[in-house]
Amino acid sequence: RPTLAFDNVVFGYEPERTILHGLSFEVPAGASYAIVGPSGAGKSTIARLLYRFYDPQAGRILIDGQDIAVVTQESLRAAIGIVPQDSVLFNDTIGYNIGYGRDGATREEIEQAARSAAIGGFIASLPQGFDTEVGERGLKLSGGEKQRVAIARTLVKNPPILLLDEATSALDSRTEQDILATLRRISRGRTSLSIAHRLSTIADADRILVLENGRLAEQGHHTELLRRD
Ligand code: ADP
Ligand code: ADP
Repeated sequence: RPTLAFDNVVFGYEPERTILHGLSFEVPAGASYAIVGPSGAGKSTIARLLYRFYDPQAGRILIDGQDIAVVTQESLRAAIGIVPQDSVLFNDTIGYNIGYGRDGATREEIEQAARSAAIGGFIASLPQGFDTEVGERGLKLSGGEKQRVAIARTLVKNPPILLLDEATSALDSRTEQDILATLRRISRGRTSLSIAHRLSTIADADRILVLENGRLAEQGHHTELLRRD
């Protein structure tokens, strides 16, 4: 289980406008950290830098002490599994949609990932089971079920690091609680960073980093932050 660190990261999309002002933090191996903050604070920018859609103008992003700028795109994607807010599911079978997470995944691995995402039983209860279609022409999945397929797609890669990018923001509050429980379970044994705009969705993170205007305004455990509110 690797550590994940931002070391004095400076970044702006445009030369005259800095978005992250020397951001530093470290997620210890196996810990679950969360980043919250108002809209425009720079949360999505952190996710984009982690995935190397952009590179910082200064500073480094480190996985186990190694600068992600020098690792291959392939090993970076193997290291970091993303659960986004809205995953694009193909109009194909659930199995195909999960297997898409990793080339050459076997049916056994896909079923294992489905079980870990708590959608295995659901699949078994369907008439055609695993080969049931997801898209418009086939089965209609609920928002929560779609999110479980997305989680399984990430899990089939067995990534040591998880980036949960507003992973429950599109769900109603009951479904959100269900998915959060699954996310908590799959985060165990991995290093995870959860990005959210609501403090309530990340209540049991080991540490919460509050981002404001591209700087860490404060950090602490959920109960500490609530006391200061
Ligand atoms: P958050 O995810 O916390 O809402 P973002 O990281 O999306 O914040 O945005 C941080 C700042 O960067 C905002 O001021 C936003 O307008 C700006 N920004 C985001 N994406 C781009 C882009 N592609 N080009 C220029 N500015 C951007
Ligand atoms: P891969 O299949 O490349 O191993 P993923 O399945 O996590 O990785 O994501 C597939 C592609 O979708 C990524 O290469 C990336 O371009 C895009 N993507 C995934 N999650 C996000 C996200 N949270 N924000 C922006 N783009 C994303």
